[in-house]
Amino acid sequence: MDEQKIRSNLKKLAVVFIVVFLLIGSISRYLFQSVTNLYEESIQGRLAERAVQYNKSFVFKMNADLQTLRAMACMLADTTTQDITPQGTEYLLWNLWDAGKAADFVRLCYFPLNGESVQLNPQGQLVPLQLEDETEEMQYAIQQAMEGKSYCSQAFYDPVLGYNTLGYATPILTGGEISGVLACSVSTESYANILSSVGSVSDGGAAAVLSEDGKVLASTRTYQTEGFYELEESDALNDDLRDQFAQALLTDDTQFFKFEMNGLTFYACVMAMDAYSDNIVIVDTDQGISDAVSGMVYNARMIGVLFAGTSLLFVMAALLMNHRYNIRLRQSAYHDRLTGAYNRHKFFQLLDQSRKKNMEYTAAAINIRKFKYINELFSPDRSNQLLKDICNVLKSHMEAGEFFCRDTADTFVLALKTLDQEAVSQRLERICEEACHCSPSIPSNYPIVFYCGCASTVDCVSKSPNEELMSHVMLALSNAKQTQRANIAFYDASIHEKEKMQNYIENHMEAALQNGEFQMYLQPKMDLKSGKLSGAEALVRWLVGGKQIIFPDQFIPVFERNGFCIHLDYYMVEQACNQIRSWMDAGLSPVPISVNQTKLLFYEEDYVERICAIAQRYDVASSFIVLEILEGLALENPEQVSQKIRQLHDYGFRVSMDDFGSGYASLTTLSQLPIDELKLDRSFLLQADHSTENNRKILEVVIEVAKRLKISTVAEGIETADHVQMMQEMHCDYGQGYYYSKPISAKEFTKSFLEAETGPVSL
Ligand code: C2E
Ligand code: MG
Ligand code: MG
Repeated sequence: MDEQKIRSNLKKLAVVFIVVFLLIGSISRYLFQSVTNLYEESIQGRLAERAVQYNKSFVFKMNADLQTLRAMACMLADTTTQDITPQGTEYLLWNLWDAGKAADFVRLCYFPLNGESVQLNPQGQLVPLQLEDETEEMQYAIQQAMEGKSYCSQAFYDPVLGYNTLGYATPILTGGEISGVLACSVSTESYANILSSVGSVSDGGAAAVLSEDGKVLASTRTYQTEGFYELEESDALNDDLRDQFAQALLTDDTQFFKFEMNGLTFYACVMAMDAYSDNIVIVDTDQGISDAVSGMVYNARMIGVLFAGTSLLFVMAALLMNHRYNIRLRQSAYHDRLTGAYNRHKFFQLLDQSRKKNMEYTAAAINIRKFKYINELFSPDRSNQLLKDICNVLKSHMEAGEFFCRDTADTFVLALKTLDQEAVSQRLERICEEACHCSPSIPSNYPIVFYCGCASTVDCVSKSPNEELMSHVMLALSNAKQTQRANIAFYDASIHEKEKMQNYIENHMEAALQNGEFQMYLQPKMDLKSGKLSGAEALVRWLVGGKQIIFPDQFIPVFERNGFCIHLDYYMVEQACNQIRSWMDAGLSPVPISVNQTKLLFYEEDYVERICAIAQRYDVASSFIVLEILEGLALENPEQVSQKIRQLHDYGFRVSMDDFGSGYASLTTLSQLPIDELKLDRSFLLQADHSTENNRKILEVVIEVAKRLKISTVAEGIETADHVQMMQEMHCDYGQGYYYSKPISAKEFTKSFLEAETGPVSL
C-alpha cells in the first residue's frame, strides 16, 4: 500500500471518527438538554405547587377575616334596627373588639351613615375618626364597601400605626339598605404567620410576600437567602435579573428564575396572590426542592453525563487503536515483515528523494547462492533467522545517507554512496565476509556463498529510473550467478545487449522458423588418410532480414531452456534430407550430413518415428544422416539413451558423440553407449598442441580405445597443417575445422566441395 492510499484511508477514518464524535456529542448534548429541561420543569412545577399552597392559605385567611368582619357588621346592623343608643353601639364595639383581636385585627373602624365615626385603636381606646384622615388605600376599601362590596385592600403603610397593614371593609346592611361600613386593619405580619405555618419551604429556602413595587411585606428568612428580597440591594441579582424580577411582580403570570447565590444554585417562583394584589415569592435551592422526580431527573442527568463520558472514552480508544493500526499499516507498507528491513516500495521512495537532492548511488543486490538448499537442508525457521542476521550485518555497514531493502526471499538491495567500482567491490567483499559467519542458526562449517550485482544510478535516466536501476542490478546479479568465477558483477551495456538479444530471440523464434530465417550451413568433414571429403556437419545460422547473422551459441542455449530446440532440430534434419535429395536429384554423389540433436529430443516419445518419416519423405537413405548427441546426455540416463540409439541403428541412422572431452564423459561412457563415431572436442587439440607429451598420449589412448570399440574418430577444430599431420600420426579417421573450411552456405558447399570432386552439374 502506498503512502497516498494510507493518507487517504487515514483521512477517511478521521472524518468517520469526527462524524461519530459529533454525533455522540450532539446526542449527549440533546439528552443532557432534555434531561436538564425536564429537571428544571420539575423544579418549577414543584415551586409553583408550593406557591399555590400559600395562595390557598392566603385566600383562606382573607375569607376568614372578611367573614369575621361581615359577622361583626351583621351584629352592628341588628343594634341599629333595635334603636340602641350610641353608648350601646360603643358597648357592642367593645365586645366585638375581642373577637377582632382573635382574628389579628389591629384596628376596628365604624362608619355609620348617620352618626359619628369611631375606631378602636390598637391600644383598645375608642376614639373619634375622620374618613379624610384615613390612607388612600383604606378610603378606597371603605368606598367599595359603601357601594355594597366586601373589600380587601393591597398592603399599605399605615403612618398612624407605623407598619404595613391590609385594610378590610364591609357594608353594614340594615333592612337591606347600607347603613354604614365596618372596616379593620390587619398587620402584614399575618402573612408571616401563614408563610411560616404552611411550612413547604426547605431549610435552605425562603418564602415571602412582596408588594407590586417590590416591598417585602413578610418573609421567612434564612441565612442563605438573607438580603435576597431586598431587590434593590440584593447582591444575588444582576441588573438584568432585578429588572425581570420587578417586572414579574407587576404581572399576573407566574414566573420562574434561576440564579447563583452564596455558591449555591437557587430557583425562584413569583406568583400573583389570588386573595390580595401582592405576590408570593418562593426561593429555594435545587436540593431543597428535590424530590423523587428531581432525584430521578438528577440520576438521568448523571447517566447522560456518564454516557457522554463513556462515548468520549470509546471514541478516544478507537482513535488510539486507529493510530496504532496506522503505524502498523505504515510498517507493513514500508517494511519487510520477516526482517523489518525496508521493502522495495520504500527503497524506491528513498531513491526518489535522493534524486531530488542530486545524490547518486551504486545499487548492489546481494543474493545467497543456493538459498533453496539451505532452506531444505536446515529448517525454514533457521533460514529465516539467517536472513534476519544478515539484515543486521547490512545495517551495521550502512553509512550516513545509505539504505537498503529486502527485495525478495534472499535478495537484499543496498544503496551505497560509493560510485567507484573498486571501492564498492571492497565494501561488498567485507559485508559478504561478515555475513557468511553471522548466523548461529547455520553450522559454521556450512559454506554460505553470496553473489552480488551492481549498477549505478548515473546510468538510469529513463522515465522510470528506479525500475531501470533494478533491471540493471538484476541483470548484473544474474550475470554474477551464471559466471561462477566472480561473485560481484557490475552492470554494463553488453549485459544489457545480451538481455535484449535474448528477448528478441524468444519473441521472434517461431516467426523465424516459419519464415525460413534459420538456414543450414555446412562444414566439411575430411578423411584424414585420403584427404577427401567424407561428410558435412549441418550448423544452423539465423539470418535476420537476409543480412545479419545470429550464431547458434547465442540462441541454442535459449532454445534448450525453452524447448524450442526440438522444433529447430527436426527442421534441420529436414533441411539435411532436402539437401541430400537435391544433390541426388542433381546427379551429384551425396555425402552424409551430421545434424546436431538436442538432448530434449531423446525424451520425445515419437522421436525415432518422426526422424524416419522425414527421411522417407525425401526418399533419402537413413545412412546419410548422422545424429550428433552431446556427451552430457550419455551421463544423464545411459540406459534409456542406449535404447534410443539402438532403435536409430535399427532404422539405419548413425550416431556420433559430439564434443567428447569437453565435459565429464570418460572412456567408460564409450563402452556404455553403442555410438558409431566420436568427435574429439577442439580443446583436446589445443591441449595437445600447446602442452606436454602426456596430453598427446591421452589423446592417442582415446583414439586407440575408440578404434578397438569400432568407433570412428573425428578431430574437431583442425586449423593448421600441423593439426592434420598430428591427427594423421595418431591414426584419427576424420578431421573438421577451419583448415578445410568454415561452415558455409549449402550452395557454396555444393559448389566448393561436391561439384569440385564430380564436376559442375547443371540443375
Ligand atoms: P558443434 O556441434 O561442436 O559445432 C562445431 C562448432 O565449432 C561450430 O560452431 C563451428 O563453426 C566451430 N568450428 C568448426 N571448426 C572450427 C575451428 O577450426 N576452429 C574453431 N574455433 N571453431 C570451429 P557453431 O556453428 O557456432 O556452432 C556452435 C554449436 O552450436 C555447435 O557445436 C552445436 O553444439 C550447436 N549447434 C549448431 N547448430 C545446431 C543445430 O542445428 N542444432 C543444435 N541442437 N545445436 C546446434
Ligand atoms: Mg556438432
Ligand atoms: Mg562439436
